[in-house]
Amino acid sequence: MFDVAIIGLGTAGYTAAIYAARYKLTTLLVGEEEGGLGVAAAEVGNWPGDIEVAGTELMDRMKKHAQSFTEVTQKQARVEKVGKSKKGFTLTYQDGTSEQARAVIFATGSNHRKLGVPGEEEFAGKGVAYCATCDAFFYRDKTVAVIGGGDSAVEGAAIVAQVAKKVYLIHRRSAFRAEPYWVERMKQKDNIVFVLERQVVEILGNTKVTGVKLDQEFEGSDTITVDGAFVEVGSVPATALAEDLGCALDERKHLKVDAALQTTVPGAFAAGDVSGGSNHFAQFATAAGEGAVAVNSIFNYLQSGG
Ligand code: NAP
Repeated sequence: MFDVAIIGLGTAGYTAAIYAARYKLTTLLVGEEEGGLGVAAAEVGNWPGDIEVAGTELMDRMKKHAQSFTEVTQKQARVEKVGKSKKGFTLTYQDGTSEQARAVIFATGSNHRKLGVPGEEEFAGKGVAYCATCDAFFYRDKTVAVIGGGDSAVEGAAIVAQVAKKVYLIHRRSAFRAEPYWVERMKQKDNIVFVLERQVVEILGNTKVTGVKLDQEFEGSDTITVDGAFVEVGSVPATALAEDLGCALDERKHLKVDAALQTTVPGAFAAGDVSGGSNHFAQFATAAGEGAVAVNSIFNYLQSGG
């Protein structure tokens, strides 16, 4: 029986593990993919203490920090189910084995949102991808589309433009949601073409992507010829496990939490992108903050006999 089980190997999960260890809580840290979405950030410039750091390096440092404590048992596995047990929670893995903890933190992050247009599924992995910064390297001297107007799309376009011949940034509005820092960086690139107030309605191809079709013409045509299309239209919180346990969602489909980051199921807490605890602002800093808050709450919860 662990004091706390933390599900998720991203910023929130690693931070929660570090705090739990220092509170001397026996901690199970479990997840499928080490580093979470943090590894997709090519350059992180807003993590206090690092003027600029690659997401892969930052996540690796967090992992090593979490693993440095004897109180933390890290396991790479897929949790299939979290059930309520008499003394806390039971985590059941894909292979049928299970483990118990008195409290649980869902730090399960989020998954890439799909565009939901014809051709997207068919050409997934054949030119359609969901992480421009991760796959930029494959598009050296090629022409690509990046779809979206948030940080992922704008950062992605700026990074891909360093290697690609030409980048079409296709966004459904004229204003960007992204940090002005990245918008400025992107605007400095002379190989990025802005296709604004347009929606991609189809991904075209034969054996792989050959173009995208728009809802309205751009420079005299409703299709743009590209070698790849990066869909960067946001993310969907990974709430399924917690929902199965009975945790409620908020109005934006994140886990509903109180100020202590407890979900609607006593003893089950949430931290990071999956929770609605930081005004839905998904950042390294907010995920880390939530990981810390959730553990402090669990410490109080366990001390009061929860
Ligand atoms: P996001 O901020 O939710 O932005 C998604 C973008 O996709 C928006 O511009 C949205 O358009 C557009 N969009 C959504 N659905 C669409 C659809 N069906 N068709 C066309 N366009 C669609 O998502 P994100 O950029 O992935 O960022 C997620 C979170 O991670 C944010 O909190 C962000 O700050 C953070 N992040 C931070 C960094 C960094 O700091 N370096 C890097 C990446 C991500 P509208 O603008 O019209 O809604």
